[in-house]
Amino acid sequence: MKDKIEKLKAQLLAALKSAKTDEIVRNLEVDFMGRKGQFTDIMRGLKDLADEAKKTVGKLANQVKTEMELAIQKKYAELEVAELGEIADKEWIDVTVPGKKPLVGHRHLITKFMDDLEVIFSRMGFAVAAGPDIELEHYNFNQLNIPPDHPARDMQDTFWIKNLKETVLRTQTSPVQIRYMEAHEPPIRIISLGKTFRKDSDATHSPMFHQCEGLMVGENISMANLKAVLTHFMQQVFEDPSIKTRFRISYFPFVEPGLEVDCTCPICHGEGKTENVPCRLCKQTGWLEVGGAGMVHPKVLENVGYDTEKYTGFAFGMGLDRMIMIKYRINHLRMFFENDLRFIQQF
Ligand SMILES: [Zn+2]
Repeated sequence: MKDKIEKLKAQLLAALKSAKTDEIVRNLEVDFMGRKGQFTDIMRGLKDLADEAKKTVGKLANQVKTEMELAIQKKYAELEVAELGEIADKEWIDVTVPGKKPLVGHRHLITKFMDDLEVIFSRMGFAVAAGPDIELEHYNFNQLNIPPDHPARDMQDTFWIKNLKETVLRTQTSPVQIRYMEAHEPPIRIISLGKTFRKDSDATHSPMFHQCEGLMVGENISMANLKAVLTHFMQQVFEDPSIKTRFRISYFPFVEPGLEVDCTCPICHGEGKTENVPCRLCKQTGWLEVGGAGMVHPKVLENVGYDTEKYTGFAFGMGLDRMIMIKYRINHLRMFFENDLRFIQQF
């Protein structure tokens, strides 16, 4: 019987050694140690032995039983470790490899520029006003002293909204002035930034463009105030305190007198050339045209019910797209709208 016990033990150990899967080990466990297993049979036979033999064989049988159970548990553990090792081999991660930064978007250059303008003007006490992109003819033209038969309407190639009477895509940010003045009493100091729309579309014009509009109305507001505000603004926006401005007489229906505003060229600093290389931006004049302005026409103030004996004001409007192109040395207008990340990510 002792031999049989030792033999079964040797058989099991040999079988376990070559077992490759949990399933094989489980079968061996059942085969040897299960309720009907070979070793269980032997344990069951112990009771038929004589007392003395029962003592010695029983001791051995119990010892072997423990050994066999341990061997089986050890094999299970071995297989588990091997399996984990295999997974680790297949799915390993090199934690020392530098990570990939997730792509985080940011504001578009035009939006950023408009935010910068808000900061510059708010430091001068201007509030920011906004109006709708789709505007009534009343605000876009009539209230700005441009009645339906006024020749100035031809100056702006307007998008009219189909099937919506007297409604346009605003051709300028000026209607915001009217809306604001209707709702507020002087003194007022506002800027309005946003999209404007006209039909022209070529290399230097986009049917959608951006404007900044300014308005200041109060007692004793003069052209000197206009000059001071615009000069300070230009110096701030181009980050160049040497910039000067000049006014040339012009015509816009909603101001009187109307002015074209020039500033000294921020590239050649008004010299017309840099180290004897002619400046192409200002065509060697040293000046750049940056916007229109003027003293608010009394008719416009009357339209919103202001006392023109008491109040005067100035207004100005500037195209922002070209200003951004000059500041950031961008050659083509279309780059703003192409959404090429190589361009957008530079700003
Ligand atoms: Zn220049």
